[in-house]
Amino acid sequence: MIQVRWPDGMPCVKCGKKEFYPRVKNRRAYQCKSCKSFTRPTAGTIFHRTRTPLLCWFVAIFLVAFDKRGLSASLLAEELGLRYETAWAMLSRMRHAMAKRDASYTLRGYVEIDEMFLGATSEETKRGRGTTKTPVLVAVSYTPVSEKGEMTGFAKLQAVKAVTEKTVVAFVKAHVEPGSTIRTDGLSVYPSLEKYGYIHDRQPIKKRKAHFVFPHVHTYISNLRSFVQGTHHGLSELHLQDYLDEFCYRFNRRHHRTEMFDRLLRACLEKEETPLSALTG
Ligand SMILES: [Zn+2]
Repeated sequence: MIQVRWPDGMPCVKCGKKEFYPRVKNRRAYQCKSCKSFTRPTAGTIFHRTRTPLLCWFVAIFLVAFDKRGLSASLLAEELGLRYETAWAMLSRMRHAMAKRDASYTLRGYVEIDEMFLGATSEETKRGRGTTKTPVLVAVSYTPVSEKGEMTGFAKLQAVKAVTEKTVVAFVKAHVEPGSTIRTDGLSVYPSLEKYGYIHDRQPIKKRKAHFVFPHVHTYISNLRSFVQGTHHGLSELHLQDYLDEFCYRFNRRHHRTEMFDRLLRACLEKEETPLSALTG
C-alpha cells in the first residue's frame, strides 16, 4: 500500500524524511528515525481505523478488481469468511472510490446519449415486493476510425428521477465537454443541447433499428442489463447509483485488466471526505 501510495517512498508527516524503524507488530504506524514521530500510512483513506485486517482488504480489492462482472456482498463475505455487513460496507467503500475516480474524467469528442429504465425491487412495500422502474441516462463516447467503423470509448451512467430536459442537460453538462458532438434520438428532451455549446447530431429512429443508429450505447445497455440480472438479481433503488458507478468504472478500464489491482487500490487510497455514516445508511 505504501508503494502504491508513495512510489518514491513514504515521507514522515513531521519532518518529511523517509527513514523509519521497522514497524511494531499490530501497529499501523511507522516511527521516523530522525524526529521519532509516527506516520500512519492509512491516515485520510478508507483504511483508516478499519477493524478489518489490511490483508483482508487487499484480498477483497484483488477479488473485486479481477472479477469481470462485479462481486455481490454475500459472495465476498463467503470468500473471505466475513460477516455480510462487513463485506457489504467494504464493497460500498470500494464503489465510492471507483465513483470518485471516474468523476474526475469527462467524455469528449463524439458521444451517444440515450435513456433506459432499470427495474428495482423496492423494500418499502409491506405486502410483498413492489417493483419500480428507475430511469437511467447513458452516455458512451466513440471515435470514428474509418468511413464505416467507430470504436467505443468511455461511458457514464446516472440514475435520475425522470427523463426531462432539465435532468438531461445537467447530466450532459456534468459529463461531456462542450464542443463535443452528441448523437441522440429525436426525443424532445434533447434539442436544447446546442444552447450549451454542443453539436447535436439528431437521429430520428423511425424505421431503422435503434442498435444500428446507436450501436455504442445499445451494446452498453444490453451489457448493463445482464450485469444487473446476473450479479445483483435486481438492484435496490437506494444503492442503484453505486452499482452503476461500479459498472462504469469496470467498463472504462476494460483495456487495463492487468493493472486493475493497483488502480483500484490507488483509488481507495485517495483522501476520503465522506463520513462513514453516510455509507452505511
Ligand atoms: Zn520525522
